[in-house]
Amino acid sequence: MHIAVLAETRDGESRVAATPDSVKALIKAGAEVTVQKGAGERAAYTDAAYEAAGATLATRAAAVKGADALFCVRRPDDETLKRLKNGALVIGLLEPHGATDFAQACADAKVNALAMEYTPRITRAQSMDALSSQSNLSGYRAVIEAAELYGRAFPMMMTAAGTIAPAKAFVMGAGVAGLQAIATARRLGAVVSATDVRPAAKEQVASLGAKFIAVEDDEFKEAETAGGYAKEMSDAYKAKQAELVASHIAKQDIVITTALIPGRPAPRLITKAMVEAMRPGSVIIDIAAGAGGNCELSEPDKVAEHNGVKIAGFTNLPARLAADSSQLLAKNLVNLFPLLVGDDGGFAPHWEDEVIIGMALTKDGAIIHPSLSGSA
Ligand code: NAD
Repeated sequence: MHIAVLAETRDGESRVAATPDSVKALIKAGAEVTVQKGAGERAAYTDAAYEAAGATLATRAAAVKGADALFCVRRPDDETLKRLKNGALVIGLLEPHGATDFAQACADAKVNALAMEYTPRITRAQSMDALSSQSNLSGYRAVIEAAELYGRAFPMMMTAAGTIAPAKAFVMGAGVAGLQAIATARRLGAVVSATDVRPAAKEQVASLGAKFIAVEDDEFKEAETAGGYAKEMSDAYKAKQAELVASHIAKQDIVITTALIPGRPAPRLITKAMVEAMRPGSVIIDIAAGAGGNCELSEPDKVAEHNGVKIAGFTNLPARLAADSSQLLAKNLVNLFPLLVGDDGGFAPHWEDEVIIGMALTKDGAIIHPSLSGSA
């Protein structure tokens, strides 16, 4: 099986879908890998390292030509899709929610697209789950960004010149990113609290040494889908949640928001009035900024300021630690590889496997994912 890895073209995207280590693992498993020259540069992986790992270096056009599969971080452009051979796979973070146009472009190019966002949340697929691997690093990086923007220290410090109080950090949404944000803020010495609408989060938050804050009514007890994601909450719940959050947030120095509902705009959790109740110098990092934002005042890829409160809307935190995020994403792809080949090591995707079924947007010139093909 022949795998191509290209340089990413999206603005600000510094990750790469293979590392020298993952290339080694793929070759050991029987693949041939061609990497576009310079593809790993922004993630600190050199051409020489890819070559030493056994990859062939090539121009973009030459890398795509003849490839059975394109491993990518973000969606490839139309031209790249057209250059792929019929039946080739495109695998990456393809932003599949409502992506009818992209799926149609793949179908028209007779390219079979697998969206890593749709990796089923089953134990067997955990090691292939790129949303989790990237969210984990987002949660970590959000706290580091907060520490950078905050004009004070995180830990309590007792010095001869006086005592510095610890920062109070509040994490909204305690999924993969939120839990890592809690752990990171605790390591830096902050006093941490967190909220979520899924009851399962309560114990996880407590186990990390943070205080759990939430409206725990009957709706809360049923807020988790079978897939482990949050449901959209009712207006009545949102009003109760807003009241609780408003009083808590006014006492916080750092707020990290990570709340997401798959396929829907991010829930609005922080209003302008809530920001105005925070003290100047406080920092909000809105990880959901790319999905519409959890904070009314966040702007994608900007650090906004309102009444002295900084509100950062980074939409691609994993790209801010590209070496690690690329390493984990590349490992997710190595773990997926056995589902792309037959017993003889030849290119033969397991179309009957539930992991592939879950991820497949297109096959043989048609859109097949139920969320896009109208059969959902
Ligand atoms: P996510 O990124 O979709 O959302 C982030 C968090 O925001 C979630 O915890 C969600 O409950 C929360 N949220 C949504 N609306 C909210 C609101 N109004 N107020 C407060 N919080 C709100 O979720 P995620 O991080 O991908 O993970 C969700 C769950 O799935 C976690 O429990 C995680 O451990 C689990 N998971 C399981 C697997 C697996 O079994 N293979 C893989 C990954 C994650």
